[in-house]
Amino acid sequence: MIHRLSDLAPSEFGEPLPPGADPKVLRDELVAAAEWVSQYLSELPAGPVSRPMPARQRVRLREAPLDREGMELGRVLDFVQDEIASFPTGNGHPAFFAWVNSPPAPAGVIGEFLASAVNATCGMGENALMDLERGTVRMLAGLAALPDTTGGVLTSGGSLANLLALATARTWFLTRRGSGDGPAYDRDHARLTLYYSAQAHMSVAKAAACIGLPAHRLRPVATDAHDRLDPAALHAAVTADLDAGLLPFCTVTTLGTTATGAVDPLEPVTELCRSTGLWHHADGAWGGLGAAVPALASLYRGIGTVDSLTVDPHKTLSVPVGCGALLVPDSEHLHTAFAHRASYLTAGDGGDALPWLSHATIELTRPGTRALALWATLNHLGRDGVTALIEHYLTLADQLRQRITAHPRLALLPSGPWPVACFRITDPDSGDPDAFHARVADRVRARGLAYLATVAVRDRTVLRACLCNYRTTTDDLDLLISEVLHAADADQPPRRR
Ligand SMILES: *Cc1c(COP(=O)(O)O)cnc(C)c1O
Repeated sequence: MIHRLSDLAPSEFGEPLPPGADPKVLRDELVAAAEWVSQYLSELPAGPVSRPMPARQRVRLREAPLDREGMELGRVLDFVQDEIASFPTGNGHPAFFAWVNSPPAPAGVIGEFLASAVNATCGMGENALMDLERGTVRMLAGLAALPDTTGGVLTSGGSLANLLALATARTWFLTRRGSGDGPAYDRDHARLTLYYSAQAHMSVAKAAACIGLPAHRLRPVATDAHDRLDPAALHAAVTADLDAGLLPFCTVTTLGTTATGAVDPLEPVTELCRSTGLWHHADGAWGGLGAAVPALASLYRGIGTVDSLTVDPHKTLSVPVGCGALLVPDSEHLHTAFAHRASYLTAGDGGDALPWLSHATIELTRPGTRALALWATLNHLGRDGVTALIEHYLTLADQLRQRITAHPRLALLPSGPWPVACFRITDPDSGDPDAFHARVADRVRARGLAYLATVAVRDRTVLRACLCNYRTTTDDLDLLISEVLHAADADQPPRRR
């Protein structure tokens, strides 16, 4: 009897059928891959942050045809080493300060790898990784200080979590009004309006577009001097829309704005949402776990009463991408929005079985890699480790801000409490200062020793350095500053024609 593809001896069937592998070959290749991974991760800091890829090579990756003949398993590792890993784009390196891109946590790398072998599909039926996903969702909810009842799902990232949240809020709102379908739907859907701070992540407006809200039903609300949503401005906007016969249905607050790391006020927004019948979604893709950090906890008072929360474990926790989550204190709302039946999907979905996770999201066949990578990372850290990790980033950000403040040629802009520093060079040579700062960031990146991004703050382009790498040290902060000044000195404005 044949148990494995590798049992198909060449004499019977020619060569073993792909994609099977001889157990000995598979073992040797897995060991080689594991050795390569551990060496790659340990040597990463010693290499360049980024290495530009020759144009010819990029074309080859995009256009190489599929050969007729299959390749040996070992070629996969050769390929990654030569064509992929030789050209890092930064995140992973301790001197990478752009966006909110973390290095992978070792426990997460192991978890992801092992889960890919188990290959459970976490959308239907019953399997251990689906229960583990439910468990990790509860762990995240506990760290975020959401109620014990909280359910939810893991997602590819914050963008998908925000999309699920808006779709859930829309269904909740229309169902409550009795306009979930029919002419009432046509009438009401066209009047839905959405509120979020002018500093919200673009994925919120993108999600709104995906659920069918036109741009003229979106209300970016003014922020205060610290980039936080202004509750009075929100109140005024909601009231004006109600007076105009529109249907305000949801407000999105941001916990950790992308540009400057601000945390919107939670309690006044929840209060307004309750009194006017709106859903309160908090986008904490970056800063959703602030309640677990004593220094930040006071800003998170009232988080337990939001209707939904996005968190992105692939940002603050270094779980390998992509791992986001949508947490919903009353997860019935998710099921109302996403549970759809089909005759070919019934086994195990009845009696006292729990709702399938596909009933809480738009994915059916879903990876178990997110759950195991997240579980491994969280358990490797422990609750205290999560707090210590975020505190480490806060401390590094303070140290960077102090260095910027102390430097005569640099000016710090207000930022925080999340660990980011926005700053400018005070003596741009000449010409347009916005273009100058963009060139400085380009030049820093091109030299390959450090990596940072720019962002628009109050309509001016500034340098932005984000702290989200557990391997970053104060030496990397000094390196960043010297690279920025070096790039500024070497700047040559483009000649006028
Ligand atoms: C990063 C981020 C997102 C998007 O998350 P992805 O994981 O990149 O899809 C959304 N909102 C905020 C506040 C973010 O920081």
